[in-house]
Amino acid sequence: MTNKTSSVNPTTIAYQKAIEHLGLKRNIANALEMPDRELTVEVAFKRDNGEVASLLGFRVQHNNTRGPFKGGIRYHHHVDLAEVRSLATLMTWKTALLDIPYGGGKGGIAVNPKEYTIHELERISRKFFRAIDPIIGPNIDIPAPDVNTNAQVMGWFMDEYSQAHGYTPAIVTGKPIELGGSEGREHATGKGTAITVRESAKKWNIDLESSEIVIQGFGNVGSFTAKFLDEYGCKIIAVSDVSGGIYNPDGLDIPSLFEYNRKNRTIDGCGQGKKINNEKLLALKCDFLIPAALGSAIHKDNVDSLNCRVVIEAANGPVTYKAAEILWKKHIPIIPDILTNAGGVTVSYFEWVQNLQQFKWELEEVDSKLEAKMVKAFNEVYEVKVEKKIPMRIASFMVAISRVSRSYSLRGT
Ligand code: NAD
Repeated sequence: MTNKTSSVNPTTIAYQKAIEHLGLKRNIANALEMPDRELTVEVAFKRDNGEVASLLGFRVQHNNTRGPFKGGIRYHHHVDLAEVRSLATLMTWKTALLDIPYGGGKGGIAVNPKEYTIHELERISRKFFRAIDPIIGPNIDIPAPDVNTNAQVMGWFMDEYSQAHGYTPAIVTGKPIELGGSEGREHATGKGTAITVRESAKKWNIDLESSEIVIQGFGNVGSFTAKFLDEYGCKIIAVSDVSGGIYNPDGLDIPSLFEYNRKNRTIDGCGQGKKINNEKLLALKCDFLIPAALGSAIHKDNVDSLNCRVVIEAANGPVTYKAAEILWKKHIPIIPDILTNAGGVTVSYFEWVQNLQQFKWELEEVDSKLEAKMVKAFNEVYEVKVEKKIPMRIASFMVAISRVSRSYSLRGT
C-alpha cells in the first residue's frame, strides 16, 4: 500500500490514543506493542531454466496472548520487515476486536509474482513454507492469503506442511473448498462490509433501502460488498476499478455487473452508466462512500471534495490520518478497516475450526455466524464511541487492546 500524502500511520496514532483513554500503563503498552518473534529467511529456488535464484521472506509473530498467531502472507516487491511487522500488529487488534481466539501475525516474500511462471511460484511457495516450518503449526501460527496469494498458494502450503507432518488442513486458511476451505470464505469480507453498512445506517439514521452508495474498487471486496448491498435494496450509483469508473444516478444493475466482472476481471466495457474518473467518483453525493481498493485513497488533498454521510473503510488504510482528522471535524464518521473488513479473518477462523473438528459446515451456518460476530463487534465499538465521544477507529482499538491486555495480565509473564 502506498502512502503518497501522509507518513503518519493512522493505526499507530489510534493505538496511542486508545492507550491514553484506557489509562494503560506505559510498560504494558510497550510490551503489547513489541512483536514476539521476527523471522527472515532466504528463499532459494530453481528457475525453469535451471538457474538458482534467491528471494527474502519474512514471518512476524506479533502477539499470541489470546490464541495462535494468525495472518496472511503477501507476495509483493515492496514487502519488507517493517511492513510485515506493522501488518502483524494490526492482526492482533483485529482478531481481538472480533473476539476470535487468535493473536496476530503476518508474512511475505519480496517478489513480484508477475516475473515468475506458475511452476516457479509453486517452488517459491513450497521453499518459503519449509523455511518457516520451525515456527508454524495448527495451534501455533496459521497463515492465510493476502496480496497476490490465493487459494492455490494455500493448497501448496498445506501440501508441503502435510508431507512433513501428516495431513494438516488446519495449518492454513483460505484453501480451495476441495482441500478443506470453508463455504462463504470467498465473499466473507464483502459480506462483513455490507453488514457494517447496514449497522451504520441504523446508528446514523440513514434509511438503508433508499440509501445511495459509491464503491471504489470492484475486486473481491468491492464486488461482493456491492452484491450484498444490492440484495439489501440499496442503490449503488457508482463503482470503479483500475480501468476507471461508471456512474448511473438511477442505480447500476449490480447482478449483471457482478457477472460481467467475474468473467472479464474488469468493469471496463460492461456497457452500463456514464464513465467517470476515480477522483470525480470519490466526490459524488452519496450516503455511503466505500473505498475498497487502495491504501491512502482519501487524503488531505481530496478529502474536502467528499460529499458523503459516512465513509466505510473496506480496504486497508484507505483514509490517511490527516484526512481522517478533517472528516472528524466535519462530523463525517469513518467506520475503520479493522472493523469493516474483519469478515475475512472471521470466516478464516471458522475454516480452522471446521478443519480441527474434521467437520464441514453449510454456507447458511457460516454466514449466520459471521453476521453474529460482525454485529456484536460493531455494537461494542459503537457503545465505546458514544460513551467516550471518540471516533470509531479509536473506540475499536480500545475494545481490542483492553481484551489483549486483560488476557496478558491473566496469563502472567
Ligand atoms: P482485489 O485485487 O481483488 O481488488 C482490488 C480492486 O481495486 C480491483 O478492482 C482493482 O481494479 C481496483 N483498483 C486498483 N487500483 C485502483 C485505483 N487506482 N482506483 C480504483 N480502483 C482500483 O483486492 P481485494 O481482495 O478486493 O482487496 C481490496 C482491499 O481490501 C485491499 O486494501 C485489501 O488489503 C483489503 N482487504 C481484503 C480482504 C480480502 O479478504 N480480500 C480482507 C481484508 C482487507
